[in-house]
Amino acid sequence: MKTTMKAAVVEKFGQPLALRDIPLPSPGPGQILVKTEACGVCHTDLHAAHGDWPVKPALPFVPGHEGIGIVVSMGPGVSEVNIGDRVGVPWLYSACGHCEYCLAAWETVCAEAEYGGYTKNGGFAEYILADPKYVAHIPEGLAATAAAPIICAGVTSYKGIKECDVKPGEWLAVSGIGGLGHLAVQYGKAMGLRVCAIDVDDEKLAHAQRLGAEVLINVRAGDPVAQLRKLTDGGAHGVLITAPSLEAFHQGVAMTRKLGTCVLVGLPPGEFPTPLFDVVANCITIRGSFVGTRKDMAEALAFAAAGKVRADIELQPLSAINSVFERLQRGEVPSRVVLDFS
Ligand code: NAD
Ligand code: ZN
Ligand code: ZN
Repeated sequence: MKTTMKAAVVEKFGQPLALRDIPLPSPGPGQILVKTEACGVCHTDLHAAHGDWPVKPALPFVPGHEGIGIVVSMGPGVSEVNIGDRVGVPWLYSACGHCEYCLAAWETVCAEAEYGGYTKNGGFAEYILADPKYVAHIPEGLAATAAAPIICAGVTSYKGIKECDVKPGEWLAVSGIGGLGHLAVQYGKAMGLRVCAIDVDDEKLAHAQRLGAEVLINVRAGDPVAQLRKLTDGGAHGVLITAPSLEAFHQGVAMTRKLGTCVLVGLPPGEFPTPLFDVVANCITIRGSFVGTRKDMAEALAFAAAGKVRADIELQPLSAINSVFERLQRGEVPSRVVLDFS
């Protein structure tokens, strides 16, 4: 019987992760143990490992909230899944189930929510302890490596687009064409929107074009706000900002059409200036959006299972995590790296 597992551990903020053999967790009442098959590497894992945000995870911890695997054991009282099921252990690891937000199916903002790979150990490990009430149910036919990016990058993009309140035929501007953004372009297209892609990197933009974006804007070339307003005839109806850059937030608000909605999803630490007069006089909505609910998760996965969106993935072993983090920090990961445990 195995008693330890390999994991990549954050022991100190801002330091390389340590590859360790740590105790194999055992599922208590209402818990399941998932044997990891694949786990995507999200930019949030970098923020977590750097201690970027006001509420920091307790050290040491195992990052990773795009972990997909098979249920291999369970404690007493589990009825939501069976041994052998393929599940995902997402950022929304658990919630209370009875506060005003949970009752309104807004469990993502529950004050008692736990976060996978942040307040609970995550998927950069051979096994993950999970709450079966909150795991993602991976549809038949969707491989673990293909499903991994959907359970954070996919659901966050999909929910963010819904929060833009846009109709088919309207313009969606996606700022940041990385892990989240390359999926946002595809969800936008699948939802009948016209997509404008914004990034600092021409290769990411060329990729967005292959995925169906009609307008491409490199913010390092000319005045991106003026270009977007001209090419969309007055600004995008919905703007989804995934870029981990404060500059992108300032620009995104200015790219929003009158009566439009700018949805903030990227999480660089800090604040950005908001042009109050323009926001007020143009009746612009600025809205935060945080991952997605379990319902959003099922919908986002259904798009992937139907072949309407497909994550572009680069497979790497767990042992490569530090070089993956360095490339992600420098913007050198084309779309999404997925750690492959097979
Ligand atoms: P990523 O590194 O894969 O992609 C970021 C992209 O932004 C890259 O393509 C990069 O070239 C581009 N970029 C950088 N600066 C830019 C600028 N000034 N203008 C336009 N584009 C720019 O990151 P990711 O995994 O897609 O995550 C993006 C952000 O979203 C992170 O801050 C992450 O923490 C956050 N996030 C939020 C949620 C949520 O629920 N709100 C969920 C997941 C991730
Ligand atoms: Zn994420
Ligand atoms: Zn709650």
